[in-house]
Amino acid sequence: MQRIAVLGSTGSIGTSCLEVIGALPGRLSLQGVAARSSWQLLGRQCEQFAPRWAVLCDSTLRDVVPRNAFSSRTQLLFGEEGIERIASDPEVDTVVAGVVGAAGLRGTWVALEAGKRVCLANKETLVVAGSLVMDLARRRGAQLIPVDSEHSAIFQALQSGKSSEVRRIVLTASGGPFREATPEQLQQVTPEQALAHPTWNMGRKITIDSATMMNKALEIIEAKWLFGLRDDQIEVVVHPQSIVHSLVEFVDGSIIAQLSPPDMKLPIQYALTWPERIEGPSPRMDWRRRFDLQFEPPDLERFPALALGFEVAARGGTCGAVLNAANEAAVERFLARELGFCDIPRACRAVLEAHHFDPTPTLAELLRLDRWAREEIGRWKPSL
Ligand code: MG
Repeated sequence: MQRIAVLGSTGSIGTSCLEVIGALPGRLSLQGVAARSSWQLLGRQCEQFAPRWAVLCDSTLRDVVPRNAFSSRTQLLFGEEGIERIASDPEVDTVVAGVVGAAGLRGTWVALEAGKRVCLANKETLVVAGSLVMDLARRRGAQLIPVDSEHSAIFQALQSGKSSEVRRIVLTASGGPFREATPEQLQQVTPEQALAHPTWNMGRKITIDSATMMNKALEIIEAKWLFGLRDDQIEVVVHPQSIVHSLVEFVDGSIIAQLSPPDMKLPIQYALTWPERIEGPSPRMDWRRRFDLQFEPPDLERFPALALGFEVAARGGTCGAVLNAANEAAVERFLARELGFCDIPRACRAVLEAHHFDPTPTLAELLRLDRWAREEIGRWKPSL
């Protein structure tokens, strides 16, 4: 029996994760849940699963949440200390890091420090502090298993050979809703259009990132750290059907891919039960139906965010933290209609180029740059 804490349990990854845990009661048990502020949903999750702990990160809710919203079987904690408590609890074996953005770093860090298995759905953690996070996992003997569908696919495909036999990895990208849009159409994109993803049903921030292809940029950086690759070993191919989740090419020319319908329950379950595979609730491919799989090269001119991803992966150091924070803040300003769609990568590049680069930063320096980059984006104005 594996005892699990889910950080970000009310979000898109979190709710899929609870579906997997609910479907495998003999194998997985929910020990703790944490959310930022969605206390009603958190309360319902506690009613269904009766975990030992529930955490609301927003401590101002202490005076708002009625006591009867949570059953007496669950202890309710508030604030970041609550996250630290459940991420390091001796009765938790596995922590699912499903919080969006740089805000997810703290819980992941504490869980790795405690030597837990971390099922990482928060790519920003590795983008911000990849070298420090991987080093921490190694020192503490903690397992870091990817939940991001592309990285799960690569993790699975890598088991076909030795790491010295890998020539390159190929990340697949759906291309998002504007794959065929002209540069003129891209200028006019509204938040509503960008929030309608053709194949994946996800949270707001990652859906905008998919539309700009910044999501793929962050995944390039994530893959570099997670699998210890050189930046020239990572490629991106656009694959609109989101069936092939990524590929590994070995030195002999063999390519091993992982395929499944686009649904996060499978990579979540694999991360939880690895190295075993067990029957679960994920949807199956229907091979009686005809379908096509398309692949095409990405367009770095229409999607300049992707070029930023390759550059930041090559430079390393402080670049990941700056790009990530700049992007998070720029996405917020886009959703608030203060920036246009094409301003997102433009603003990110401007802030990235203005920052003082350090090839070997400390965690404190990265967190300081994270705040600085957000403020810079707040001041950034599109040139007319
Ligand atoms: Mg992904």
